[in-house]
Amino acid sequence: MNVSEALNLLKDKGYRYTGKRETMVRAFARENRYMSAKEILKLMQKDYPQLSFDTVYRNLSLFEELGILEVTEFKGERLYSLSCPESHHHHHIICTVCGKTQKLDLCPMSSIFGTPPGFNITGHKFEIYGQCEACSNKGVPHTHQP
Ligand SMILES: [Zn+2]
Ligand SMILES: [Zn+2]
Ligand SMILES: [Zn+2]
Repeated sequence: MNVSEALNLLKDKGYRYTGKRETMVRAFARENRYMSAKEILKLMQKDYPQLSFDTVYRNLSLFEELGILEVTEFKGERLYSLSCPESHHHHHIICTVCGKTQKLDLCPMSSIFGTPPGFNITGHKFEIYGQCEACSNKGVPHTHQP
């Protein structure tokens, strides 16, 4: 999903095109990571100081419903990111500090599970959590060499 695909989708579905919605889509495209509603509100308040949490939340739900955004949950908080442009099956490694993601092309599903008898699998979720290089470097305290 890129910015123009997302905006076209909104238009096609008959949703009113607003500057706020465009700003939100652009913010997700620029940041290219998972963000909480609070984070996106803070980013958008640079352009819309009066913006309410409600408005942000309503639009996040709408974008999720339309498939513009992907959602994951971490530590009980919902995090949103622009949906991947890749149509082939893949998984994500997610930084729990900044929300940056990396693509993982291999799928562990078949090696773990095989084909379970009596059940037709239609989908699965698999995410790996950790810290990206930048975040783990920041976390290492500076030590003096003797
Ligand atoms: Zn992806
Ligand atoms: Zn990070
Ligand atoms: Zn998979």
